[in-house]
Amino acid sequence: MHRLRLGGLQLRTWCAFDVIGVPAVLDLDAVLDTHCAHCDHPLRVTIETGQPPKESPVVGRLPGGPCRNVQADFCPEANLFCNHAHLAAWRKGAGDPPGTTASLTELAHTGRQVWTKLT
Ligand SMILES: [Zn+2]
Repeated sequence: MHRLRLGGLQLRTWCAFDVIGVPAVLDLDAVLDTHCAHCDHPLRVTIETGQPPKESPVVGRLPGGPCRNVQADFCPEANLFCNHAHLAAWRKGAGDPPGTTASLTELAHTGRQVWTKLT
């Protein structure tokens, strides 16, 4: 579960991709609070005018396996990690499932592409 403070609203989502992509497509300030999917360390990402910090050790992962149900198949595996080492450790422990690594900037870029279709 990820928490997102966006435009005075406190939201919760199942998907780390949404918490970066939604503020990105809306060009809004936001604060994301979540935990590293490997070590459970709290992570806070401050987004300014839709743009996450360019220089951040925090890295995201987008699942690449079959997706019949977004909430069941995609969101639980779309997470943020403290850094590349924690993502690599998680992948090893999870049996190296298919997926791609994405920086916060890349997640915002992809989010704009996906979510702009809905605005
Ligand atoms: Zn971690």
